[in-house]
Amino acid sequence: MQTTYTIGSKSFVLDRDKAEAAYMAKKIINGRETMYFNILPLKYQWAYELYKKMKSNHWEPEDIPMQKDCEQWQSNEISDIERWIIKMGIGYFSAAEGIVGDNLLHVIRESVTAPELKLVIGRHAHEENIHADSLIYMISSLGINPHEAEAMFDDVETIKMKNNFVVGNSKNLRRGMDLMITENKQLLAKNIFLFGQCMEGTQFYGLFGMILALYRQNKFPGIGQMFRYTLRDESNHIELQRNLLMDLVEENPDIWTAEFRQELTDTMVKAVKLEKAFIMDCLPLNAVGLSAEEFIQYIDYIADRRLEGVGLKAIHPGVKNPFPWLAEMMDIKKEQNFFEGRVTEYQKASALESVDDDEL
Ligand code: FE
Ligand code: MN
Repeated sequence: MQTTYTIGSKSFVLDRDKAEAAYMAKKIINGRETMYFNILPLKYQWAYELYKKMKSNHWEPEDIPMQKDCEQWQSNEISDIERWIIKMGIGYFSAAEGIVGDNLLHVIRESVTAPELKLVIGRHAHEENIHADSLIYMISSLGINPHEAEAMFDDVETIKMKNNFVVGNSKNLRRGMDLMITENKQLLAKNIFLFGQCMEGTQFYGLFGMILALYRQNKFPGIGQMFRYTLRDESNHIELQRNLLMDLVEENPDIWTAEFRQELTDTMVKAVKLEKAFIMDCLPLNAVGLSAEEFIQYIDYIADRRLEGVGLKAIHPGVKNPFPWLAEMMDIKKEQNFFEGRVTEYQKASALESVDDDEL
């Protein structure tokens, strides 16, 4: 008995019994382990769709002109605080992008079993490589000493604390955990929440806000553009990790105890505290039209959205978004003439429809 299976405009004829068996064997964790990359039939449709979406957002740092940024970096029109914010951005993200990519490959991808999940996680890790590469491009364009950027991981206490907060968790999970045990499932679920919602979802947003606030004042346009692309990528990463966590919990309801939910909320509270201390380091005084208080409120607002996204209660219900402009700036698709320099368009219309058979 055969059955026709479709993805976008493509259809495939599958043997019904085999397709059903393959489908049933697909699980977030503890599913069938196979060397074959048997994507069909898809069980986690969102994972494949997100993979296509992420691929259509592809960008390369060298496409973005940096002349104006270099001029401003050298000139008097930029204050020391503005330079400090850029340095903090480069210093923090140089470490953070690598940490996220490393955890994805060594903890999350190692633990999940369905091939379409491995596919999208591989793309996520690659995007962290692009982000790391964009920081190298910024460092080389501005003539910053790479050792100086690296030294910030240790010398800036608030960066060190944010990094330690996630690295310790990640390292502890590299030991071939038995994922039939509830406690181990919870450790993995917490890792996915910590990296996706607390780190990428919340602790990246202080700097995103500050650097894009400068960009809005026409300061560092090249760096600002790269951060807009990065932010668009991060929003897909947050969604990927959110879906992964939700499906993991749905398949393994033993994870989602009241105690565990409280543990996740407490983890977010810690993440927010570290991010607020970091913001105070970035903005020692309310200069250049940026108010530390507003950034702190923004973090409360963002953290609550992340908590609600995974079905947890907000910590500060009713807190207002102090930067409504930021949400618009993050949405690149709405803007028509985003590329001012070299015109490179990776975005393909309806990427899902244009999949070739040999790509699958
Ligand atoms: Fe990233
Ligand atoms: Mn990311």
